[in-house]
Amino acid sequence: MKASPNLHRDNQFSGNRWRKCWTIKCSECGKEDTKFWVDLEDEQIAAKNFGNAGWDMRFTVCPACIRKARNKRLKARQRKPKVVPMTPLKAVPDEPRKLTRDERSKIRDALEQRFDDAHGCYRDGYSDQKIGKDLNIPWSHVRDIREAAFGAIESDPVLDGLKSDLAQAIEMLEAHQKEGKSLRGLFDELSKRIADHDKRLRS
Ligand SMILES: [Zn+2]
Repeated sequence: MKASPNLHRDNQFSGNRWRKCWTIKCSECGKEDTKFWVDLEDEQIAAKNFGNAGWDMRFTVCPACIRKARNKRLKARQRKPKVVPMTPLKAVPDEPRKLTRDERSKIRDALEQRFDDAHGCYRDGYSDQKIGKDLNIPWSHVRDIREAAFGAIESDPVLDGLKSDLAQAIEMLEAHQKEGKSLRGLFDELSKRIADHDKRLRS
């Protein structure tokens, strides 16, 4: 495999005589470089040597062009507008503040309406957070009052719903499999009857 289309074994007149050398041509600026590695015949090693001398041997680019490109990249980076660090959004303080008697009773009313005490879960997709939002009260208070009055949330209605859907899907799948088996039986039976009938007709 050729190391680079721009790398050639060459003969050049140097020091009053023709000498074997390697020439390489920059694919960017076209500048040539010559090295008098006299006994070096292996192109891969010549390419490696140019690489060690600062050439980019993937694209055959001379060290000067590499430097130029690097400076250009640096300048472009400096020209980029400075990223202004975002001031972190202040977390909405959800610090417990004293509730008024009215707020407490509002929370209790909402819990009465939205919490399913029997199943230990909220109804209708409600949550401590949603009640807090509805009443404009830090939801940690809702949680505290709910835990005191009804205890911890024991089940997740969404998860329970999904589980029951999955169970139903499994049941349906099993029914389909049974149906498939009986269809297969019917198919075999009909095939056999057709074959028998065919045989009778021919005999
Ligand atoms: Zn160049």
